[in-house]
Amino acid sequence: MRTPAGSLRASDIGKTLTVSGWVQRRRDHGGIAFIDVRDASGVIQVVADPDELEAVADLKMEYCISVTGAIRARPEGTENPDLPTGAVEMGVEDLVVLSPADTLPFMIDDRVEIDERARLRYRYLDLRRPRMGANLRARSRATAAIRRTLDEQGFLEVETPTLINSTPEGARDMLVPSRLREGEFYALPQSPQLFKQLLMIAGVERYFQIARCYRDEDFRADRQLEFTQLDLEGSFWDRDDVLDTIESVLVAVVKELRGIDVARPFLRLTWQESMERFGTDKPDLRFGAEIVDLSGVFAGTGFGVFRDTLAGDGTVRGINVGPQDWSRARADSLTERAKELGAKGLVWMVVEEDRSLRSPVAKFLDANEIAGVRDGLAANPGDVLLITADRWKRAVEVLGTLRNDLLRPSAHDELAFLWVVDFPLFEEEEDGTITFSHHPFTSPSSLEEMRNNPTGAISKAYDAVLNGVELGSGSVRIHDPDVQRQVFDILGIDPETAERRFGWFLEALRYGTPPHAGFAFGIDRLVMVLQGETSIREVIPFPKTQSGVDPMTGAPTWVEETQLNELGIALTAEALARREGPDED
Ligand code: ASP
Repeated sequence: MRTPAGSLRASDIGKTLTVSGWVQRRRDHGGIAFIDVRDASGVIQVVADPDELEAVADLKMEYCISVTGAIRARPEGTENPDLPTGAVEMGVEDLVVLSPADTLPFMIDDRVEIDERARLRYRYLDLRRPRMGANLRARSRATAAIRRTLDEQGFLEVETPTLINSTPEGARDMLVPSRLREGEFYALPQSPQLFKQLLMIAGVERYFQIARCYRDEDFRADRQLEFTQLDLEGSFWDRDDVLDTIESVLVAVVKELRGIDVARPFLRLTWQESMERFGTDKPDLRFGAEIVDLSGVFAGTGFGVFRDTLAGDGTVRGINVGPQDWSRARADSLTERAKELGAKGLVWMVVEEDRSLRSPVAKFLDANEIAGVRDGLAANPGDVLLITADRWKRAVEVLGTLRNDLLRPSAHDELAFLWVVDFPLFEEEEDGTITFSHHPFTSPSSLEEMRNNPTGAISKAYDAVLNGVELGSGSVRIHDPDVQRQVFDILGIDPETAERRFGWFLEALRYGTPPHAGFAFGIDRLVMVLQGETSIREVIPFPKTQSGVDPMTGAPTWVEETQLNELGIALTAEALARREGPDED
């Protein structure tokens, strides 16, 4: 029998109760010991008076204990209004150590900075910290809100397999060797994409799943090898049905975690507009500093770099990043950054008090050009202006990245949702090969356009974006096997390969496939933003490090030779040398 520690209030005064939890803190003052006992519900202060000290003598941090005692009012002036239980304290009648704890590798305290490797090595202790506990609870409430919202709308939750063959989403597959069919491999799903489309063919009409997806990609703060999506699909649906449903879910999750109502419908920008104005397909709308086309200003310029760019198929774009702490070193490092991003260079200008422009290129510009830049970028004294001259995509993308680097708020107090729609259907690689921009099952906006000018074709794909974070993507799907073949063809997948890899799916499309559309968003990312975290690792209970390692269990690990033999797998000489070599961690 126990009472949750965090539930104790003034109304409990006079009761004798039992609380079980962990020793979070201990202070000894003038013969009295104050012990904060924490359980999942909160913290209560247990006070051992001089004649009770013996019972608590051995208690150390994070011992798991059970205390029975009287609840009493804290002495006047010692109440703690910041703590829900701060009006009361508990005496000690009986105390049992349920489990002692070794000396801790780190303090269970949100205010202490701990090396992330140590946190992951002892994740079970890290998760005892209040902030991590709050993140776990938030995540659970988010998924509950998702299920509730979709259940009310008649969606069916359906599980799809994790041992499948490849689903192309643009990443490398994670493979699992088959023992029963030596030499053959399953792939873990990059997403349940084809299975959810099969469910539409199966007549499910409204599907969702909280699905684990696996993509063997390079790590970044918002990527992991495995992550969780809300995956969703509907039949007899067009784009707006999807956007409407996903909005209802996102709004419900925000209400649950932040207690606020987000206005609907969300803003929509076409991909083209998003790129033009923000230089990215995931714009952060919490601040302005939009990109401006300055090509007209420099149409007749004598400044060689701009003139040559405009004479080719390039453009000149600018952005006003406002007052900045500006120095030569800062200018150099930003220029370096622009070059890393692929720009040939970066032109910077600082607006002086007299509205003249201080810039290494000022001397090459005439008065009209200077006025044109100032007006175009609504420049005021003190503002820093950045200009790129390049082919369109690079010119806007570089400014888009610098815009984020310089102006993006780190906290996520404000929430700016939007949809980016009308993505290009295909992307052209540097070497001229064509790849899909969403995935190969996405419907083109116009077949005609796709056939005539594939790289200019628009798709029925859309993304949801929150504060510059891409939450997820979706599309109206191809439901005609013939169109699906044409897309494979443009992607350079020849009919034999298409048959071998997707024949089973093309066949399914031939049995009365309803028009359908869907979406998936990353639950990790959504909860990360709503909890004000900057890495998805903070909202994943047991994540991997940036190099894909779990410091606690040691995964991935070498396996026994016999296991490999059973699977028909032999390690290469390089792998064997690594195995014999020093431990890399
Ligand atoms: N399968 C897609 C993804 O994982 C989402 C979708 O198109 O529904 O990004």
